[in-house]
Amino acid sequence: MPRDWRDSVDLTERQALVRRSIRDLCSAFDDEYWRERDRTATYPQEFVDRLAADGWLGMLIPEEYGGVGMSTSEAVVMMEEIAASGGGFAAPQAIHGGIYNSVPIVKYADERLKSELLPKVAAGEETIQAFGLTEPNAGSDSTAMETRARREGDEYVIDGEKVWISRVENSDYLVLMARTTPREEVEKRTRGISMILVDLEDAYADGLDIEQIPKTASRAVHSYQLYFDDVRVPTRNLIGEEGEGFYQVLDGLNEERLVIAAECLGLGETALESGIDYANEREVFGGPIGANQAIQHPLAEAYADLLAAKKVIYDAADRLDDLDRTEAGAEANVAKYLAAEAAFEAADAAVQTHGGFGVAREYDVERYLREARLTRLVPVTQQLALNYLGERVLGLPRSY
Ligand SMILES: Cc1cc2nc3c(=O)[nH]c(=O)nc-3n(C[C@H](O)[C@H](O)[C@H](O)COP(=O)(O)OP(=O)(O)OC[C@H]3O[C@@H](n4cnc5c(N)ncnc54)[C@H](O)[C@@H]3O)c2cc1C
Repeated sequence: MPRDWRDSVDLTERQALVRRSIRDLCSAFDDEYWRERDRTATYPQEFVDRLAADGWLGMLIPEEYGGVGMSTSEAVVMMEEIAASGGGFAAPQAIHGGIYNSVPIVKYADERLKSELLPKVAAGEETIQAFGLTEPNAGSDSTAMETRARREGDEYVIDGEKVWISRVENSDYLVLMARTTPREEVEKRTRGISMILVDLEDAYADGLDIEQIPKTASRAVHSYQLYFDDVRVPTRNLIGEEGEGFYQVLDGLNEERLVIAAECLGLGETALESGIDYANEREVFGGPIGANQAIQHPLAEAYADLLAAKKVIYDAADRLDDLDRTEAGAEANVAKYLAAEAAFEAADAAVQTHGGFGVAREYDVERYLREARLTRLVPVTQQLALNYLGERVLGLPRSY
């Protein structure tokens, strides 16, 4: 029997178990399900509920708080499989925050907050799906953020705007990044930023407005503009140390970036699979179009690039604990860069292979291409990933 072309790295027993379980769970959500979520721009609630019911939203929460206690090595398998199931980038994006936003709480929150919140998140009863960093004037340059959290007694009073914040309507809480000290008053722009847990129901009652941003890619998962007008949050909802929030974000960035690379990889794999199937089935001029090298080579190139990205992702996820922060940053940025490029290349080759049907909704490859284009922009743009490599690894001068 030919070796499955996706089985190119050896998995540990735990990784193999994750892969089997996730494949099995995802088989209940077919291409038509994801096509419909995209067409109608509807959040895949049934899919998220199934993952939550089986405890997957608590996969990174330690067992003592009711979670599964897994790590990045298993998270990359999970997210690759979810995307490769046909869900594309939208499917992992629907739950990514629900899994990752508990990580800074595990690492930095005080014991009271952890024991109050984490068991409920692990049980799927409450969700922390939303993370609010980006602002209209602070995207790649996130330390330019202007949203203020002023201390008044035992409350923070929050004013400002956030943009592109995903899954807000599917979440009970938002992990908010806000300035507790204005930029002019701190010696380094990375200081004075804090991480605060916002209970969204209370915040709506208190003056938080949200507005959905119409968009063309990953349509099933919505992003919002947020307007805070004197929204009050108890100071006990501070996560970690006041003013040190930016460093707390940096601390989890590499793990998260590797997992997003795995999501790009799964998207590229499902796109390539569609391209291969069509290239074998479709006959033009009396033979399968896949026999033409103009069709075959772009698919083979995409395979080679996906395989390279996969090796980097799995190897880095495996060695992450042994790397210092700069080394881990280099691996994570290489992985994200390669995986997003490979996903785009695979989706583009799959569209071309499909001829006119490349833009027909029923073949899904146009959806994969829109999502693959998005992966070159989020969560960090390809240029910013290259900046890291240019400046931190190659020792070139900084552009900012
Ligand atoms: C669908 C979607 C979901 C998102 N979800 C979230 C979320 O849940 N939470 C959240 O906080 N944010 C979220 N974001 C925001 C995302 O992280 C930002 O869009 C991204 O970081 C880029 O910021 P920007 O859009 O402001 O681009 P800008 O910073 O304005 O950059 C514009 C362009 O200039 C380039 N550029 C800027 N500076 C440099 C430089 N020094 N060198 C080279 N190139 C440069 C950039 O690479 C980019 O191509 C989301 C965005 C999208 C599209």
